Amino acid sequence: METIIKTIDSNDIDMDIIEEFGKMLREGKTVIFPTETVYGLGANALDEDAAAKIYTAKGRPSDNPLLVHVSDISEVDNLVENVDEKAKLLMEKFWPGPLTILFKKKSVIPDRTSGGLDTVAIRMPSDEVARRIIKAAAVPIAAPSANISGKPSPTKAEHIIEDMKGRVDAILIGGECNFGVESTIVDLSGDYPLVLRPGCVTLEMLREVLGKVEIDPSLMNKDDNIKAKAPGMKYKHYSPDAQVYIVSGDDSSRISKINELIDENSKKGLKTGVLCMSKNLDSYKAKTFDLGNNYEEAAHNLFDELIKLDKEGIDIAYAESFEEKGVGVAIMNRLKKSAGYRIIKA
Ligand code: AMP
Ligand code: MG
Repeated sequence: METIIKTIDSNDIDMDIIEEFGKMLREGKTVIFPTETVYGLGANALDEDAAAKIYTAKGRPSDNPLLVHVSDISEVDNLVENVDEKAKLLMEKFWPGPLTILFKKKSVIPDRTSGGLDTVAIRMPSDEVARRIIKAAAVPIAAPSANISGKPSPTKAEHIIEDMKGRVDAILIGGECNFGVESTIVDLSGDYPLVLRPGCVTLEMLREVLGKVEIDPSLMNKDDNIKAKAPGMKYKHYSPDAQVYIVSGDDSSRISKINELIDENSKKGLKTGVLCMSKNLDSYKAKTFDLGNNYEEAAHNLFDELIKLDKEGIDIAYAESFEEKGVGVAIMNRLKKSAGYRIIKA
């Protein structure tokens, strides 16, 4: 398949490009575009055949539903049975932005989009390019992350061109994604709201608006007996070819533990990498991958650094652990999945 590739300046948006890409989406084509979370692989959410193309391009299991993106809150009523008070509060507070809300779907949403579920997950992105393309398409847009299934999500142009050129109709390159991890997903159908995927809208932020909010217990530890409520969370994900381990403990014991492991690995001829905060870049006897100075920067950098591990031919990577509060919950969730829940205590 030939892929049209164009670049857009998010500070000076070329509306001709927006119209061209919106039209492609409306006509059932697959289009990759930037959002504030990660790059999305979009298609018309109301068109079964278009939605099916997303699964093919990503190699995505067919029971893993797609997120639906709208350009305005007013579009939600056409897609869902009911918008309750809690959903209204969340939309007012966090939309546009990286929060996805589950609703009972209307029949206009085809099963192909909802993965056969009777619910649909909707968000309104804050990224100006994303919102304008969706508006130009004049249809809601199903758009999961634009990676091959199982791999880290793309936050930079170079990630996408390598993986997706030839698999989609068009790619629109914008800047780097601001947040860097995918949206928070919240389910309001139970006794209290449940976070099915942690993201940059944190549990603490949700609790300020809704009171009691919990996280889907299946996400915190690996337990094959507890089923994840978001079908996608059960799959292997964010996995580079390198074997990733999380190392927990205080900073100094973690540094000495990782350096011991580096020595053992190099005796076996294995190349080690360390994913660490900027302040520790010089503390390790192996190649380091810079996650930044704070949790927000780490969320922004995480997928890019995971992708770099493979580019550098790393066999084994150790990641410094994060405290599971604020954005740290989302970072640890992605890290645990990429590490297959392997945690070494220092
Ligand atoms: P992605 O589109 O790659 O960001 O992944 C979307 C995530 O949302 C996956 O983990 C899906 O399983 C989850 N998801 C989408 N729709 C629903 C739904 N109706 N109910 C539960 N989880 C959903
Ligand atoms: Mg994804």
